[in-house]
Formats: sequence, structure tokens, C-alpha cells
Amino acid sequence: MLAVGGGPAAGKAVMAVVGTVAMGLVAAPGPAVAASTASPILRHEVDVTLNVAENRLDAVDRIRVAAPASGEPVRFLLNRELDVRAVRTGGRDLDFQAHDRWFPRHFWRRPPFADLGEFEAAREIEVPEPPVGWSAGVLTVEVEYGGVIADSLHSPERAYGRSFETTTGRIVERGAYLTGSTFWVPWSGDGLFPFEMTVSVPEEWRSVSQGRAASDAVERGRRVTRWVSAHPTDQIFLIAGPYDLHERPHGDVTVQAYVYPITGEDIVAPYLESTGAVLDRYSERFGAYPYAKFALVENYWQTGFGMPSFTFLGDRVIRLPFIVDTSYPHEILHNWWGNGVYLRRGEGNWCEGLTTHGADYAAKEREDPNAARDYRRSTLQSYRDFALAGGKDFPLRGFRERDSAATQAVGYGKTLMVFHMLQRRLGADMFDASLERFFREQRFRRAGWDELRAAFEAESGEDLVPFFAQWVDRAGAPAWRLEDVKLGREGGGPYQVHGVLVQDAPAYDVTLPLLVTNEDGAHLRHEVRCTGERTPFRVDVRFTPDRVSADPDFETFRRLHPEESPAALSAVLGAPAVRIVIGNEVSGTMRSTLLEIAEEWGRDSAVVVVEEPAGHGELPDFAGGTWFFGEGHAAHEREALLGAVHLHGSGTVVAAAREAAPGGTELRPLGFFLPDDPESAPSVARKIHHYSKYSWLVFDGDRNTDKSFWEPGLSPLTVKVR
Ligand SMILES: [Zn+2]
Repeated sequence: MLAVGGGPAAGKAVMAVVGTVAMGLVAAPGPAVAASTASPILRHEVDVTLNVAENRLDAVDRIRVAAPASGEPVRFLLNRELDVRAVRTGGRDLDFQAHDRWFPRHFWRRPPFADLGEFEAAREIEVPEPPVGWSAGVLTVEVEYGGVIADSLHSPERAYGRSFETTTGRIVERGAYLTGSTFWVPWSGDGLFPFEMTVSVPEEWRSVSQGRAASDAVERGRRVTRWVSAHPTDQIFLIAGPYDLHERPHGDVTVQAYVYPITGEDIVAPYLESTGAVLDRYSERFGAYPYAKFALVENYWQTGFGMPSFTFLGDRVIRLPFIVDTSYPHEILHNWWGNGVYLRRGEGNWCEGLTTHGADYAAKEREDPNAARDYRRSTLQSYRDFALAGGKDFPLRGFRERDSAATQAVGYGKTLMVFHMLQRRLGADMFDASLERFFREQRFRRAGWDELRAAFEAESGEDLVPFFAQWVDRAGAPAWRLEDVKLGREGGGPYQVHGVLVQDAPAYDVTLPLLVTNEDGAHLRHEVRCTGERTPFRVDVRFTPDRVSADPDFETFRRLHPEESPAALSAVLGAPAVRIVIGNEVSGTMRSTLLEIAEEWGRDSAVVVVEEPAGHGELPDFAGGTWFFGEGHAAHEREALLGAVHLHGSGTVVAAAREAAPGGTELRPLGFFLPDDPESAPSVARKIHHYSKYSWLVFDGDRNTDKSFWEPGLSPLTVKVR
């Protein structure tokens, strides 16, 4: 969880802007009516100079590309702010034409229209075949261009969700940021390519890119660095700024930090010191770290991006004490998943969930079994409250990137649970061996769920088609019921616990853990494979059993019953309809501040704002979640729901509860937001989402000082047997 800017790793998905259909897609004559598609660039050799005062870059890129068919042009995309000065091949100048826009069908037979928002900065350059014709085979085309790259930082779209400021690219005094979506080097289709890049920046700056710095020198007031990325990659990152470089060796890998001069050794050292152990841990599990360096790169706006061989973290982010143990290892693991094996466009983003499983969740497992269990429960809770509640669920194959609480709950949360179930099924050693095989076979290539499945099948010898089909291609999750539970005993033999595990059609194939316990602490674990809507089971027990529970430790992906999780902020945050009640005891600046926050929350979700009338009247019923903003009669009436947490007198309180709908059993989620002072209220309001799994929070100013869960109720999946 990240308290500023957003979650740890939306960056990978945001960064994976230039995906591919297949490697080595060679232009071939198309049907009579359609032109052939351009072939992807095979290699870049680019010299680039950054002129910071003028926000501009000037570059010469020598690209290698398969020669088009006779009569066909070479086409590529470039940022619309960059002017092409010359295009040459074999020492000859070529004519070219810069279009105002670009044409997806020139680059794909079936364009991935859902992804084309990432191409907003691009326009198309067309280089017709010269009179002498194209030479056969592979062409080297030299493109000389330059211009101003100074897009602004765009606010995240969702005040309610978590996201970073975004930009298509900028070269400003504080730093330069150029990525695939900048289109600052020519692009001509989804391909993977090695590159060499010589970067000239002001003397007091440093540049960072993928791969290794083959040379680095200051000459005539400029720092010139040559970056070599021998491994195929999908885009060229060029980050630069007034950085100090800290580094130390770890085996064959150089561990680095590119940070601003005010960022001292006290900030940098914990990162540099922890990196080696993290690299070793993942190398041991999944195969050797694939790059020559790993760098922490500081950013002046708040990001949490993972790029191949470095991570790009905001200056406030790196100063949060927990990042070194949470987001940082997560971004390092992306060098295996996402930046080592790349995603294939249109086939689903498997890398966030796999990285979350291997980094964030694995850290909880190392901590203790209860921490891991709480993490799984919170994952199921987010899925229920954010994805299911609003009807926003979708199959994993449709996950591209996190852009809301719902896409996070599915794309990160469900995926992590799928890998957890696979790990339980195959055992930890077989699970790791399968991922090591996947990495060995797919490193520096693009892969989807099918290659993952193939690696697990090859290693285990099991047919995993049904497993992946039900979890990856199908939306949803089973909801389990425990019925007809009876206790039997024949003579003086063992007790027999009978029951039926029930799910709705179409049934999932799931092995559910059962736990039989008694009050003296005796317990027996048992597993039941359920393939149909009703699965009878019988467990023989040598002690006198009291209870039987199905999946009490949240080992399988399923719909959580409300009683299985404590009332949590996620329920009211994720409610499809939300009412905000401004308490009738609130006045003055606090009142106007709370109204502003309510209006902000209403900007991107269905929110009704109600000013509570004076007096002691009842609020009308509302089919949805209700937030109580500030003190008032209705909030005080419900104070008993908050147990030991008091609305008044202990700093700013944020708390969740639930109450039954009038005349029904349906539970309506409630939230309480009782700021201590109007100054810190907006800042606390922005942070609530990051703490959504909790039942209650206390803030001193805008600093969180306490947080915890209510006790969950009795699960319907736990039944007394006698
Ligand atoms: Zn990530």
C-alpha cells in the first residue's frame, strides 16, 4: 500500500505501452484491397542530445528494418512535435511525407483499438520507395529529427481510485522523461529489439536507460553516456536529470541509485543495502537476474514504475519508510515478470498478479501464517466489494492495467489467488520449478497465459487446461454453502462428520480445505475435491468434534460471505451507490470543507450528497452505502456500531460499520469520516482509499497513527456439529 501517489506498481502496466503481436512479423503482400502492414524495427542505434533550456531533443536514429515489398513505403510513427529533417539509406536522401495523423491498419491487420489511447502523441511518417527501389533484405534507414517535448503532467483521472500523474513525455529543468508512449524514436509495429544509444545531457545531469552504460564521460560541458541494451526490449526509456550516482557491486550485478543531490546517504543506503538480498532471493527461485545493473531512479513527481533494470520512484515515495520492503522488491521482481518476460498485447496482463504473489504476498508468508491469511482474506474482500458489488468483474484474460479499485481487485488480487491455488496444488518446489522453466524459455520474449500454462504442464505432467480455463477465461468465483452437516458414530469407532458442499451452476472444480475442530483445540484438516453443484463429504475423526469449517483460511478464490470479513472501508468505498450525509452539528469552515470533499468524491462515481436537517429526525432509507461526514444526529445514533472507537476526542476518525436494511437481512455498508480539523481533512480524505481493507483508522493531522479490524462475525461456512 502506498500512501501517496498511488499503488506500488501500476507503472509496469502503464509503461507497457508498446506491445506486440508476434516477433519477426515480416511484411508480405496483402490482399488486393489492403496494403501490407509495416514490419517492426529490428534494431535502433540512436544519438540524442537534450537541450534542457529549450525543452528539446535532437536525434539521429539508424533503424534496421525489413525491406518493404516493391512499391510499398517504409512507414513509422514519431511524436507529432518532432520535425523530421532527413531520411537516408545507403548514403542517399529519401523523400518523405509527414502525415497529421496515423493509420492503425498500416501497422496491424487487426488493430488493438482498445490500446490505441497510448498512441496519442504519434503521427505517421511515410517514406516512399525510391526510384532505384529498395535493396533486398534488411535496410538501415537513418532518420534525423528534433523538436520540443514538453507535455504537461496530467492529473490522475480518478480522485477516488489510485493512480499517478501521467505524461507522454517532457524535457524540463527538473528532468527528462521519454518512454515508448513519447514516440521519441521511430516505431513501426509491435516488435522487440536491441539498441545502442548515445545520450548527451548537460554536464551536471546524468541519463539512465535499460541495459548498461558502456561508456560515460564529461566533455566540453556535456555528459555523454553510451547505453547498450543487447537484450530485446519493447521500448527505449530515456530518463535524465540532475542526479548523483551511488553504486556498489553485488556479484555480477551493479546496484545503483540515481538520486537528486539533496537525497542523502541516509535515504539511499537502505535501498542499496537491501537490493542484493532481494536479487538473490528471486534469482534462487526463478533463475538468474537478467540484467547487468539494477537502479533506483528518483523522480520529481510521484510514480512507482518498474522498467527493465531500474525502477522510477517519486521523491516522496522513496522517503516513505516501508517502500524499501514493499514496492521496491515488487519493482525488482518485475525484471522477471513483465520486464524479463514481456506481455503480449491483447492476451491479458498476468505479470502484476504473479509479481504480487512472488513479492508482496511472499513477504507476508515469511512474516507469519496469520499475516498471509489476512492478506488472502483482504484480497477476497476487495474482490467482493470493488469488483462484484458494482458489477465490474471480468475474466483475467481481459486485464490490461490497473485503473480503478475494481481492475486492481481482479487483475492483481484474483490473479494472485490463482497462483496461490496453483502453488498449493503442485507444491512449492514444483511451482517454482515451473516458473523457472517459464523464465528460461520465455526470457526477452512475449508470453501470455498459454505459455505460462504450458510451463506448468511441462514441469508437472498435469493437464492444466481446465484449471486455467475456469480461472483465466471465466469471470466470477464460486460461492460455497455448507449444508446437511451431521455427526455420526458407529459403535465405539471414530466420529463421522457428514455434510454437503454446495455451489451454483456452472460448477467450478475446486479442492476445498475442511477443518474439523473441538473446543479443546484438537483439529483435523481434510480436503474435498468439488466438481459439481453438490459434493457430499465424510470425515472420520478420532476426537469428539464440535465444528466443521470450509476453507477457513481463505486458501481458494471464492465469494466471501459478509460475515467472513469484518466491516471494512472497502465495502462503503466500493458500493455501487453512495450517499454522503453532512452531519447537522458541523458548521463554518469544516462544513464547507466537507462539502468540497463530498463534491470531489462525486466527480467519478454515483454519489448523492445530503445535508442532514437540524433536529433528531430519522434519515430516509438508502439502498447503497452511506458515509457520515462530520458529527450529527444520525452519526451519533450509530456510534454503538463502532464499539471502542469514539467519534469524538481522539484525532480524526475514519471507521466502517454495517447495519441491516429496514425489514430485511441485507447489510448496508456505512462509513464515518470525522475530521479533527478542516486543514487536514482533504489530505486524510485522499488517503482513505489506501487503507480500504481496514475497519477503522485514526489520524493525527494527516498522519495515520492507528488502524485495525473489527472482529469478523461467525462464518456461514463454519457449522456446529453437536
Ligand atoms: Zn507491479
